[in-house]
Formats: sequence, structure tokens, C-alpha cells
Amino acid sequence: MGPTQDSLVQVQPLGGFDKPLTYRNNFRGTESIEPGSLVTIPLGKRKIPGIVWAFEQNIAKPKFKIHNILSVIQATPVLTSELMQLASWISRYYCCSMEACLEAMIPAPVREGMKSKSRRLLFLEKEKLAQMDISTRATSQKKIISFLEKQSQPVNLKLIQEKTSASSATINNLVKKGLIRETQERIERVAYEDDFLDSAESVDHRIELTDEQKVAVTEISTDLNKKAFHTRLLSGVTGSGKTEVYFEAMEFALAGGGGVLFLVPEVALAPQTVSRLRMRFGEEKVVVWHSHLSAGERVDAWRSLIQNESRIVVGARSAVFAPIPKLRLIIVDEEHETSYKQEDTPRYHARDVAVVRAKTTDALCLLGSATPSLETINNVQKGKYGISKLTQRVDNRELPLVHLVDMRREADKIKTLPILSQPLVEALRERCVNGEQSILFLNRRGFNTTMLCPDCGHVEGCKHCSIALTYHRTDGYLKCHLCGYRKPTPRRCSECNSFDLHKRGHGTQKIEDLVAELLPRRTIIRRIDADIMTKKNLFRETLSDFRKGKIDVLVGTQMIAKGLDFPKVTLVGVIDADLPLRMEDFRASERAFQMLVQVSGRSGRGNRAGEVFVQTYAPHSPSIQYARKADLEGFVDEELAMRKEFNYPPYRHLIRHLFRSRSEAKVEFYINKWTKLVNENNFEEITVKGPAPAPIEKMNGYYRYHLFYFTCSVRTALEKLGDIRKQFPLDPEVHDVLDVDAHQIS
Ligand code: ADP
Ligand code: ZN
Ligand code: ZN
Repeated sequence: MGPTQDSLVQVQPLGGFDKPLTYRNNFRGTESIEPGSLVTIPLGKRKIPGIVWAFEQNIAKPKFKIHNILSVIQATPVLTSELMQLASWISRYYCCSMEACLEAMIPAPVREGMKSKSRRLLFLEKEKLAQMDISTRATSQKKIISFLEKQSQPVNLKLIQEKTSASSATINNLVKKGLIRETQERIERVAYEDDFLDSAESVDHRIELTDEQKVAVTEISTDLNKKAFHTRLLSGVTGSGKTEVYFEAMEFALAGGGGVLFLVPEVALAPQTVSRLRMRFGEEKVVVWHSHLSAGERVDAWRSLIQNESRIVVGARSAVFAPIPKLRLIIVDEEHETSYKQEDTPRYHARDVAVVRAKTTDALCLLGSATPSLETINNVQKGKYGISKLTQRVDNRELPLVHLVDMRREADKIKTLPILSQPLVEALRERCVNGEQSILFLNRRGFNTTMLCPDCGHVEGCKHCSIALTYHRTDGYLKCHLCGYRKPTPRRCSECNSFDLHKRGHGTQKIEDLVAELLPRRTIIRRIDADIMTKKNLFRETLSDFRKGKIDVLVGTQMIAKGLDFPKVTLVGVIDADLPLRMEDFRASERAFQMLVQVSGRSGRGNRAGEVFVQTYAPHSPSIQYARKADLEGFVDEELAMRKEFNYPPYRHLIRHLFRSRSEAKVEFYINKWTKLVNENNFEEITVKGPAPAPIEKMNGYYRYHLFYFTCSVRTALEKLGDIRKQFPLDPEVHDVLDVDAHQIS
């Protein structure tokens, strides 16, 4: 259905205006535009790009002057209609501008109209040449002609210039005269193919599925056969072979003519998955959506999808927007991972967006994890999502034996706070003697410090909220980051009266040094943390060396807990299991549980049984006890009961409202004023908590305060708040932003 000439169209500007504007489409080019086309429009005095959003049907005679679209950058839509719907949903639900959504969804070089790269290939029209007298021609032309005469294939322009030192003007001249003809060849820029090759030894044969895997595959293919939207959780213990189930599901969807999206928390951490995928679906082109793709690579990946050349994408968060044709299946691996939540605008959660996207395309969304998020479990319990379970590791391998090391007793032994306990050090030594591998795991978040009593393990908590208080160095107070409650830092433990209160923190570097001192000299120790992640090659090399057995002990932060499969690891040490528990976040126990089960899952994946040592000051805390037994159900029951009692997520949505300003007085004044206004309105649908200073009170010179809204309906809450926000006279030096379904509260 093409538009008629001179019709009116709505165009969403890319560059400073937040809703579609009306333009006249009198563009009489060869290409006709459609929704999703990229065009240039006038906006004020500027000319900016915009996306054709819709054709206006019954238009009354406009009262204002309507401008023309200036030019068509690209008629082929940069957004499919399905993705345009998704953009509208994201901008509404996450309360962000359409422009911010489009920026996240469409790779910058595509938005800017960057074309695929092609090269000019030239060849000689030999028949034409025979009719001409070449002797009269200039020397440089002769040179080109005699060079081309010797070639059997068309030749790249660059090469001709190199060999004949002819200028492009000379060559173009010959082209004009018809003596030389040219063709274009598209060059594909594929990102680091070799990245995934060295882990390719893993699996190259078909495996016989276990009974549980077979059941799961049947359930999933039944879903897919219905060709209707559905979401299913694949809840499978670590090492139960979830990836194999994903692959079977993919094969089924592809065989039915559908496209597949495979989301992983971080592509760099999934080299094995990618290489297994490439091997399994070798005849298909698998697009890998890296976070560090170059502009050209991104355009080509994008184009190969738009042009139906590939229909499988594997990638992290932003790949949820990949324009996959006929999308039938979306897999979200490790769906509980926080890296799926984007922490700046648009603050979307890729798992939730995946579900919404599946809905718009009648696809199946398959969420997989050994430690599913409570949000997802709640949706299963409500009957919104289906569930398939894998309760056994493949080959009936045992889950590793988990030892809890009570650090309170370790502290007694040496009269100071130990970092590495005796039992863990002994276990490490034993692995070195036997030539087995170990991972030491430290969960460190730089900024937060809580008050921990080394004698009884008590952590100072807020009396209004079920979270720990945070020590603020600036004024020596303990503060609650949820409700704003504060009290002076106590000198004695309020539980056991001990004077020995400590504020704690130590880094991976220190652990690495300590281990080096304690273990035999020939032991090879490497560290993986945020610093190393920035050096891409170093990170890949380290992982690959570890896989090959060239490293004995790997020390790292939570990033090494994500889905890695190293068969030779028989020992995992968790240095500080309580850290996530002490965070000022009601999701702390959930994080602690997930983290412990996931790291433990890295041990004993090969033929030898695995062991895990968990150092803790709170050995009796529920998350640690349940994690020790890998008891997901037990943990979920207890934690959900607590969430229910406080009416926290997943029973209500949490929206965080952050205010920031260079002036502390202003930010405090305005957030108080705003809170008062919200409270006066007494919205039935919204429970307000706060305001309080944010955990990071000052960031980049900005003072930060926040308040929280708990609500059953994000849409209603945003409408009500939006209405009064429009009238609220906020100082231009104070900025505010909403984070819907907030995760990281920093
Ligand atoms: P998960 O993601 O559930 O932790 P993986 O999918 O990584 O587990 O599988 C763990 C290991 O088990 C992998 O090396 C995989 O190749 C292997 N595996 C999976 N399914 C089977 C099976 N049916 N028989 C034998 N090995 C299997
Ligand atoms: Zn509180
Ligand atoms: Zn105490």
C-alpha cells in the first residue's frame, strides 16, 4: 500500500523533538517511502534526519504551514513495524523519550544512513577497444588499458591505481567513454571471526538427550507449534544441559521457517556457546551482536538481517532489538542476570522487552536459568509463564559438595579479620599438588560499606526497612538508602555489645597477592576483574589459557560466575559470601543466593567431583543455607514470603525517582517539595518511600537524592505522576529521572 504523492506523513525527528511531526511527502524520487524509511526534514532552521512514522489518513485542512520532506536518506525501513510498536511500548513503559529509544534500537551508523561498503571493480570492454585507436591516447590511459588487458577478472580500483599510478579522474574518463565498465561488489565486514574458534573443540557430535531434556524439548516444541505468544521458564540446575535444550528448540523454530534470537548476559563470556552454535547451525549465517562492533560491522550485521540473509542472532542486551525476520523464538539465557537491565536511558530490562517483543510477533520466549529471578518465578506461579525443569546434572554428575567456613571462628583463631581461611588454603594447596584447577571468587562492589560485627556476624539494619544501613564517611552516620532513616555510627554491636565493629572491604588484587604468598612458587595465578575486562585480548587470552589448563588458580569478581564451563575445575572458593547480603538493597538475599549457586556450579563439571568453600560471617542466613543445598524451592518460598510481607517486587513494581543537582541545597529542597506534593495527592495506586540520599550521594559533581514508588500498575502510576510533574516548577539546575523496575540502586 504505497502512499499517494503529496500525502501527509508523520515523521519522528532524530534530534531534539519528542513526538512525530506532520510533513508533506511530495518527494518525487525513484524510491517511495514507507513507515520506517529514513528521511531528512526541516525543523526550525535545521535539517535533521527523521523516521517516517505513519501516513495520516483523514486529515482536516491543516491550520499551520506544513513543510516538505527534503530528501530520502534510505527508503528501505530502518525499523520494521514490529520494532516501531516495541519502541512505542518502551518509551511509554520506561518513561523515556522516543528519541532515546530509537537511539538504543537503531545502530548509530544505520541511523546516519551509512551504506554497506562496496568496492568498485573494473574491467575492459575488449570489443570496444578493438574499434578504437589506442595509439592516439595519453600515456596514462594507455598504461591503464594495457594493465587491464592482461587481467582475466574484474580488478579492484585501488589495485589499478597502485599498479598504474593513474588518477581516478583518468579512470573515470575511460569509464565515461565506455572503454572500461565497472561493477560493485559488497564487502562484508564480519567481526572477529577467530574469537570463537579456539573454544571450538568442545562438542562436535550429536548428543543423546537425557530423559529430562527430552521432556523439556517436547514441551517447547508444543509451544512453538501453537504459533502463538507464550513464555516458558527452563529451570535447570547448573550443568543440566540447558544449552542443548535451547539448540533443539532453535532447530525446531528454524525448521518451521522462523528466526531466532539468543540472548546471553555478555557475549565475551559465551565463546563456547557461540562456537557450539556455529557448529550446530553451520549452514546458517549466525550473526553475533558484539558490544564492541565497529560501525561498519554493525551496519553489515544489520543489513544481513533486514535482507533476509540470516535469521539467527546471538548477542547481549541490545541484541533484543535486532531486526530478525519472522522472529519465532527468543531465548534469554541466565535470565536472572542484572546485566540485562540497562542502567542509563532508556532504562529497559532486556528480558522484559524480550517478552513484550515475543508478544508482538506471536513468538515463544524461553527464559533459562539455574537461579531464576523471583519476578519470573512469580509469573510461573500466577500461571502466566509455563515451566520445564531439569533437576539433574547430565551423566548424573553430582552437584559439588559445599562447605561453609564460619569466619567468626577463623577470626578467633588469629585474633584479626582473616581474608583466607585455613580450610580454603589447605584445599587450594591440595589442588596444586594434584594438578587440578581452582577459582577464587570475590563479590566486590566498591562503594558500599556496612557495619559488620566480627563476633556475632550482626549487620546494623534499618528499623523501617529490611535492609542494611550504609556507613557514610562524610558525616559518620549510618543511613538507610530506602527511607532515609539515619543514626550515628554505634561504637558497640547492638546485638552482642562487642566493641570490635569493623567496616570491611578488600579487592581481587590483594587476594591474588595473598594466594601467591601461600601457595607453592610454581603455581600460576591470574586475575579477572573489571580492569582486565577493558583489555579485550588479555581477557580472552586469560580465559582461553585457563581452559587449556595453563593457569592453576583464577581469581575474579562476579563476572567469572556467568555460565562458564571449565571441566577441569574441582575447587571454588567464595571469599566473602556475605557481601551481597550486606548491600542496602531488598534484593540482597536473592543476589547472594544466585551468586553462590552460580559460582558453585562452576565446580565439578568434568569427571572429577567438585568442592566449594564458602567463607561467611552469617552461616545461618537463609540464602547461604539454601544455596549450600542448591535448594531453589526452599529459598524461593522463604524469600517470596518476606517480599509479600513488605509488598516488595515481584508483588508490586518499584519505580525509582532520582533527583540530582550541583547544588545540594537545591536538590534537597526540590525533592522534599516534590515528595510533599505527591503525598498530598494521596494516590491510591502509589506508595511513596523516601526521600533519602542515594548510596552514591555525590557523583560527577552532582548531589543525588531519590525516592521510591511502589505500585501495582506502572502505567497508572506514571500517568498520575506525569500529570502533577507537568505543573511542578522544578529549578533548571535540578534534573530528575525515573527508573522503572529499578534494579541497581546506587
Ligand atoms: P547448563 O547451561 O545447564 O549449566 P550446559 O548446557 O553448559 O549446562 O551443559 C553442561 C555440559 O553437559 C556441556 O559440556 C554439555 O555439552 C554437556 N551435555 C549437555 N547435554 C548432554 C547430554 N544429553 N549428554 C551428555 N552431555 C551433555
Ligand atoms: Zn529504612
Ligand atoms: Zn555482635
